[in-house]
Amino acid sequence: MASIRFICHFCRRPLKLTPSPETAGLDLSQEPAASNFPSAQGDPGDTPEGGSASSVETDLEELQGSASSWAIPGDGELSGDGPNSFTLLGKLASGRTLSSIQRAMTGLCDILSGEELHHPLCEDCTNGLLEQLDSQLSISESDSQTYQRCLETRDGLGEDARETLQRELKVLELEEARLVRELEEVEENRDRAAVALQAARAETETLEQQERQCHGDLGELQWRQLELQDELWSVEHRLRSAQTQLAWLKKTNAFKAAFEIGCDGPIAIINSFRLGCTPTVPVSWGEINSAWGQAALLLVGLAHTVGLQFQRYQLIPRGDHSYLQSLTEDPVDLPLFCTGGKSSLVDSKFDQAMAAFLDCMQQFNEEAKKGEPSLFMPYRIHVAQGLMEDPGSREFHSIRTHLNREERWTKALKLMLTNFKWSLDWVSLRYHHN
Ligand SMILES: [Zn+2]
Repeated sequence: MASIRFICHFCRRPLKLTPSPETAGLDLSQEPAASNFPSAQGDPGDTPEGGSASSVETDLEELQGSASSWAIPGDGELSGDGPNSFTLLGKLASGRTLSSIQRAMTGLCDILSGEELHHPLCEDCTNGLLEQLDSQLSISESDSQTYQRCLETRDGLGEDARETLQRELKVLELEEARLVRELEEVEENRDRAAVALQAARAETETLEQQERQCHGDLGELQWRQLELQDELWSVEHRLRSAQTQLAWLKKTNAFKAAFEIGCDGPIAIINSFRLGCTPTVPVSWGEINSAWGQAALLLVGLAHTVGLQFQRYQLIPRGDHSYLQSLTEDPVDLPLFCTGGKSSLVDSKFDQAMAAFLDCMQQFNEEAKKGEPSLFMPYRIHVAQGLMEDPGSREFHSIRTHLNREERWTKALKLMLTNFKWSLDWVSLRYHHN
């Protein structure tokens, strides 16, 4: 006799068939308790009494059409590909219809799992499922007891306790509202701080840029400072050099540096040129003329120093060809030099020139005596006679060559240069600081 067999949805094992009076003729495995579920029993029309031959055949066709994925190849005649189908093996016996069995098992599995479960299940899988349901039931009962206790506790609270809790609740609500406001303030402060931070960052960027610019300017200014420092040191060095030179120049007297007056025996010397001669010491006229030129230059310098403008004569120093020019309506040049030999002693113009030179020297003497300190010339000058007087010996010496002797002429010239030597000392003292 052929039978219908199923496989378990979970473990994929073929269901173990157990014959029963209700499923006589069907090789169907069914949990004993499952048949007691209302959905498996209370489906009118699914009972064997309500069935007919034609409906059984229709159920068989539907079942065969849906059975696919649960096929066991090589173990039966029918197979299919439907995901929620199972394989029907063997022939359906009379009695309970196949559709009623299917619906009963579907209901069983749905109730057991409480979710979208597929069917059928084997005995082992059903036992495991029942254990899980027992544990869930225990948890639910525990929760229910807890809730019951809570309800009893609430009901047991007195009016005072409730009011106290209400007050605490209000206080907590107020505290919550205050905290919400505080949170809003904090968020506003945070927004303001974010804006301020952004502004500060922009300002920082600007300041950093300015700092870089200032660093650049500072570098240029430091470089300029170094240049100016070098320039300052150079100027200070030149200043010290100039001050040193100035101090040396202040100590230096131009007249004393330019004119040196001495003597060699009876003959006076000015700047290495002898002025005069003796029979034993002949001196060339060229040297004597040069000495006269130096004397003329010295007298002109002294007169210029004291601001003296000569009267009657203009003294023109020209080396060994110096001369004087009379300031009359008819100017006459008086040469302060002689070109001849002994015969030149009778040169009247030379004599006039030397007398005029004494006149100029006396003018300077009179002007310098007005100064403070006044000039003192040790030897008197007699302009009209052309004489030099030695106050100590009361001797007079003519500066002319006419009717004169070389010694006396040379002596007069020596006295004249001695007066110049004193004049040099005086002018150095008088105008030292000027
Ligand atoms: Zn199973």
